[in-house]
Amino acid sequence: MQSTQTTEIAGKSTRFIELTLEDLENNRITCTLWEEYVDVILPYLEEGRFEPLIVILQMCRAKVFRDRVKVSNTYDVTKLIFDAKLDEIATSRKDKKHAQMEGGMISVDKWSSGSQAYFLTHLHADHTAGLSSTWKRGPLYCSRLTARLFPCKFPGFDLSLLRVLDIGSWYSLSLTTPSSGSATNVYVKAIDAQHCPGSVMYLFRGEFGCKLFTGDFRWETTGNRVEFGRTMLLDALKNETLDILYLDNTYCNPRYAFPSREVAARQVVDIITSHPKHEIIIGIDSLGKEDLLLYISRALNIKIWVWPERLQIMHLLGFHENFTTQTSLTRVRAVPRYSFSIETLNGLNTLRPTIGVMPSGLPWATKGNRNIFGSSSASCLNKDCGKDIDSANAKRNHEYIFVVPYSDHSCFSEIQEFIELLRPINIKGIVSSSSCYIEPHYYFDHLCGSKQAFWRINQQFENEEVIDRIEDAEKQSAKEGNSTVVGRKRRIDQVDFFGIRVSRVSVLRRLSRGVKIADTEYISE
Ligand SMILES: [Zn+2]
Repeated sequence: MQSTQTTEIAGKSTRFIELTLEDLENNRITCTLWEEYVDVILPYLEEGRFEPLIVILQMCRAKVFRDRVKVSNTYDVTKLIFDAKLDEIATSRKDKKHAQMEGGMISVDKWSSGSQAYFLTHLHADHTAGLSSTWKRGPLYCSRLTARLFPCKFPGFDLSLLRVLDIGSWYSLSLTTPSSGSATNVYVKAIDAQHCPGSVMYLFRGEFGCKLFTGDFRWETTGNRVEFGRTMLLDALKNETLDILYLDNTYCNPRYAFPSREVAARQVVDIITSHPKHEIIIGIDSLGKEDLLLYISRALNIKIWVWPERLQIMHLLGFHENFTTQTSLTRVRAVPRYSFSIETLNGLNTLRPTIGVMPSGLPWATKGNRNIFGSSSASCLNKDCGKDIDSANAKRNHEYIFVVPYSDHSCFSEIQEFIELLRPINIKGIVSSSSCYIEPHYYFDHLCGSKQAFWRINQQFENEEVIDRIEDAEKQSAKEGNSTVVGRKRRIDQVDFFGIRVSRVSVLRRLSRGVKIADTEYISE
């Protein structure tokens, strides 16, 4: 591509730009765009674009000049369509993505073959999909605590393949650059992700630049642990630029506003104490929410029942005093999340009065004044009403169920603070299917080190709810003074411009996530 040029035509200074177009079979052709078409395409050509720009030209002028075909726009008749949602384009993108990942050196939370080193951020199932006890693909790097818990999740795993990384220390790996075959050093530091026991982020430095993969993370704004994490991260980055931030974007939408875990834990204790005659069940995963259970145990001076496998994990984590498998010792039980349901609670209530407590950030996404469980909600929608966040109370979603805004993922304002701190050049969300998906660039483009006008466009919009969300997102953006969408065609083009993906099907389900790091460029799936 050349930069914009001007030429004299009929005594009038006229602007043009020359581009090289390449089709899906790699045939190339020169294209000249004139006058206002320069303005249309220029924003797409700014630095920092990491994927090919797909352009469709309709009604253009084709000319043969010295045996070469050139195309150009025909005054204002030609139509330019950018990154259209066509099957051919989607296939082309997928192929390119795979090609880039074939040359990978490092995989994070991604377990297909072709990498020289594999990194695990934490042991939640959506990060270990594809990993098994028979793993043989290479060394697997993880935190010390994850390594301790590893045999519980993968009995029979060859533990000699585990490489422990202590939090806060730099490690050097000797790897091979796939493209040249030459040796190269990659440096990595694990940083507390404050998500669940053993969870870490990975900061990589190498010939590919500086990249941070958060895995799942919670970035609360106050507390010693947060201060420690912030200092460690800034020390690790020093004055270096972060080229790519792979971000836990689970709640990357201003709709998600919830308080700190300590505030939410107090709400759980209040619910329990205000139901002195009730049995209590709390839905948890096989790892995570330990701090919540410990808070309850210590505040009420009681033990908490957990199922036998969970007790084993509690013991591995060093919590010997606060948990039991004897139901007679306590009225508070932590049960697997999958067994927590209205049916379960209806059944339990035929035996004795029981209430359920579900800690989750999900219901705190609101639409109007209703949350996804359909109940009324007074929770605030964005960081501007932060003063109300801490008073966002637990909600009674059903006769027997309270949902408490206790989450191990960052809420929107925390994600924003994190990005403000790091100012990465580029951001990629690692969660491709979350309940209210918005490409992080939509909100945080203005915080990135270089202008990125091209957050993903090839999203599918499945229902009218998407339009609502687009409008909400747009309002929010306007409120924050962002202007990431160019031109007066903003409303008309917004469906194509705004990288928002929402799927009813995926509201309560998140898919596996992870990336491979190639020597030149890498893209998360
Ligand atoms: Zn997780």
